[in-house]
Amino acid sequence: MAGKRGNQTVGECLAGIFNQKLIPRILDLAKIRMQTKVSELNEKQLQVLACKCKKIVLAICDTNGFENAQVCAGGVRTDEINPVTMESRFVKGLYLVGELLDADGICGGYNLQWAWATGYLAGQAAASKTI
Ligand SMILES: Cc1cc2nc3c(=O)[nH]c(=O)nc-3n(C[C@H](O)[C@H](O)[C@H](O)COP(=O)(O)OP(=O)(O)OC[C@H]3O[C@@H](n4cnc5c(N)ncnc54)[C@H](O)[C@@H]3O)c2cc1C
Repeated sequence: MAGKRGNQTVGECLAGIFNQKLIPRILDLAKIRMQTKVSELNEKQLQVLACKCKKIVLAICDTNGFENAQVCAGGVRTDEINPVTMESRFVKGLYLVGELLDADGICGGYNLQWAWATGYLAGQAAASKTI
């Protein structure tokens, strides 16, 4: 890392590897300034930095609040739904998809994928019903 990225600041060097908000905290713990060039770090500092990167332990003390929430937990239980059609097992003609169901994933596209995939199944099934 130090050889190829010597011209970058330590902050730039860690960008993309860690979340931007985490970098100042890691550098605080390693007692290295964000603007220090990688080539200016001595062997000891590099070792301390590598150690902090690998072993950082952070206590989560709060969440970002409801206005920043990205997905809801809870909803209709998935075993109450026909997984092929997304139709309720209890109310015929009622299709439940996406956030309405008790399924939630971590950030990374899983919730959108869930919404699209279940919506597709429900749409296909509902459209194929004869009225
Ligand atoms: C800020 C934010 C960021 C997110 N980022 C990601 C991400 O990066 N990756 C990921 O996978 N997921 C992400 N999600 C979650 C993802 O967007 C949702 O899980 C997904 O959109 C759920 O789709 P849905 O169709 O079930 O519900 P929604 O997208 O909430 O759609 C429900 C729709 O119903 C409408 N509606 C509500 N009530 C009524 C009514 N009475 N009559 C008519 N219409 C009504 C609403 O206006 C809305 O358009 C994010 C969510 C938020 C809020």
